[in-house]
Amino acid sequence: MDMKCDELLKALNEYVDGTLEPGVCEMFQAHLKDCNPCRIVVDNVRKTIQLYKGDTPCELPPELKSRLHSSLKARWKQRPV
Ligand SMILES: [Zn+2]
Repeated sequence: MDMKCDELLKALNEYVDGTLEPGVCEMFQAHLKDCNPCRIVVDNVRKTIQLYKGDTPCELPPELKSRLHSSLKARWKQRPV
């Protein structure tokens, strides 16, 4: 029942939005514990979002989200195996 890297990437948007189902969220975090490349990607997303949001909790604009997602995908493809 392990989550694969591409599944994690697909769930990333929901994770960022906080709409990931609790069960999926657990798998997500279990995967991060064992998968260094994914952890780096998720850390980067968190930092980017914190930078963007600052102290105001608000929705990320869709264009930022898709930009983030495609740059992550590119980075993720270049990850060391
Ligand atoms: Zn992974």
